Amino acid sequence: MRELIVLGTGNAQAVNYYNTCFALRLDEGLFLVDAGGGNGILTQLRKAEIDFLDIHHMLVTHAHSDHLLGAIWVIRMIGQNIKNYDGDFTIYAHDEAASAIKTICSLTLPGSVLKLIGDRINIKEITNGESLEVLDESFTFFDICSGKMKQFGFSARFRDGMIFTCLGDEPFSEGCRVYAEGSTWLTSEAFCLYRERDIFKPYEKHHSTVREACETAAALSAANLVLWHTEDSHDSKRKKLYQDEGRAYYDGNLIVPEDLDVIQLGHRLSDSKLL
Ligand SMILES: [Zn+2]
Repeated sequence: MRELIVLGTGNAQAVNYYNTCFALRLDEGLFLVDAGGGNGILTQLRKAEIDFLDIHHMLVTHAHSDHLLGAIWVIRMIGQNIKNYDGDFTIYAHDEAASAIKTICSLTLPGSVLKLIGDRINIKEITNGESLEVLDESFTFFDICSGKMKQFGFSARFRDGMIFTCLGDEPFSEGCRVYAEGSTWLTSEAFCLYRERDIFKPYEKHHSTVREACETAAALSAANLVLWHTEDSHDSKRKKLYQDEGRAYYDGNLIVPEDLDVIQLGHRLSDSKLL
């Protein structure tokens, strides 16, 4: 089994969606990527029927509030329930994000949790291009060359040949092509529709639109593209509007999930259509 559990699809200021974050469910366990901006992560995990005690691996891509603050809550909940927790909890983060996590934990969490950091709760610093075995699969972490704040994406290369790549929440940078080209699954931010760029002004926020994300996926020959980190004005029409615009630029499988969608990660388009 290999699933993408979508915990949130909104941008930082969205109120109709939770902030963008997700979990991969693999045969060997869960890999949580970011946690949104607060203890709403606990609600999302409960709705997704994920017990936080089953989470042993989490990546924090960068230190922006809409990605990192929820991670503090995950650390707190695991720390306060450590008696019922098997094994260790590893948080992967680059140096700046790791430093922010440690600082915020030290300012906001009780001593009973803090004393577990470095013991049962490990903050593992990762470097650009570093590959690690996580859950018996190979994960390579890479700097997305953010224009705002240091941010890492990752590419998981599974034993059966599937490649799942997370590009983070900024526009694609050519320097990351080596990690992302030929991905079976590609996830990208798309702040808004291209035709609404004058309303939402994505470029001044270092974000892109559905059009650019789809052009990127086409240029990288990605078989499946997941778009998220969006504005939230279209409610239930978002999926159709984004897919209609994206089709002109990308002929792979374009998915615009809702919060809490669960996407089966298949190899072929027919395995994964969620239309
Ligand atoms: Zn963000």
